[in-house]
Amino acid sequence: MARPYLGNPGRCREVLKKYGFTFRKKYGQNFLISEAVLSGIIDAAGITEDDFVLEIGPGIGTLTQYLADAARRVTAVEIDRSLLPILADTLSDWPNADVINADILKTDIAAIAARENEGRPIKIAANLPYYITTPIIMGLLEGRAPIGSMTVMVQKEVAERMVTGPGSKEYGALSLAVAYYTEAEIAFIVPPSAFIPQPKVESAVVHMVCRDKPPVAVRDEALLFALIRAAFNERRKTLTNGISHYAGFHFSKEEAAQAVERCGFAPTVRGEQLSLADFGAIADALYEIRPEWKA
Ligand code: SAM
Repeated sequence: MARPYLGNPGRCREVLKKYGFTFRKKYGQNFLISEAVLSGIIDAAGITEDDFVLEIGPGIGTLTQYLADAARRVTAVEIDRSLLPILADTLSDWPNADVINADILKTDIAAIAARENEGRPIKIAANLPYYITTPIIMGLLEGRAPIGSMTVMVQKEVAERMVTGPGSKEYGALSLAVAYYTEAEIAFIVPPSAFIPQPKVESAVVHMVCRDKPPVAVRDEALLFALIRAAFNERRKTLTNGISHYAGFHFSKEEAAQAVERCGFAPTVRGEQLSLADFGAIADALYEIRPEWKA
């Protein structure tokens, strides 16, 4: 008998009805009902039968089924306890998929990779809950767990912020963190009609390949990220003002201007004009002025 795939909208609605499931807005629940999009995510993620995949937010298990078809093993982390009996049912034909009931922001991903993949790089795949997209992505990037790649559905506007470079209005701290840790691209755009309930905005699948080492080497990584926060906290101000106003530092306006000018920029330059390499150079110049830079 054919397996009961949930990418089929009729089958998905049947399962929701059988369990009397009501969507919880607070958990960002928009479930996929497009086979084309589900196959597209598997292709973009480049999943092979050797892979261990960590899925964030399986919902009723739709993407999980397709991941488990392609991978060696899938673990899915779901916060909503009411989905557990549904997942036990919908994944019963996929013995290589299991579910952990937890908040992904509090999950020890390195421990899962150690247990399930002998500490080798794992793949992340998700149709992310949009209310916490940025904390989840930042947590994955900065978390130091062994991750080979991440393929995630996000709001289109967030996808644009993730992959853009200097000079665009979407450019900011998220773009720089994504560029520092990964090589990222938008794989494809997804219309609201691919989900139930339909979100108000378009979505996009972003594929990120994690780098072995960052594209710029800096003296102090924490200082680089503090500088980036300082630059975009007050986006409309000059970088010099951003640095001297930032609560995490105590560089004076003169010291900030000295660091910026030492790297060949006018003291009126704004963060949105600077590349990751430029931020790296300015972070190193600030470090030279004061290696004990923390306020
Ligand atoms: N993967 C399913 C699909 O594509 O049909 C569902 C995706 S839905 C956009 C997001 C899922 O993430 C929901 O099932 C939601 O309950 C779950 N979720 C929300 N916050 C979470 C968190 N902090 N940790 C783990 N799962 C979470």
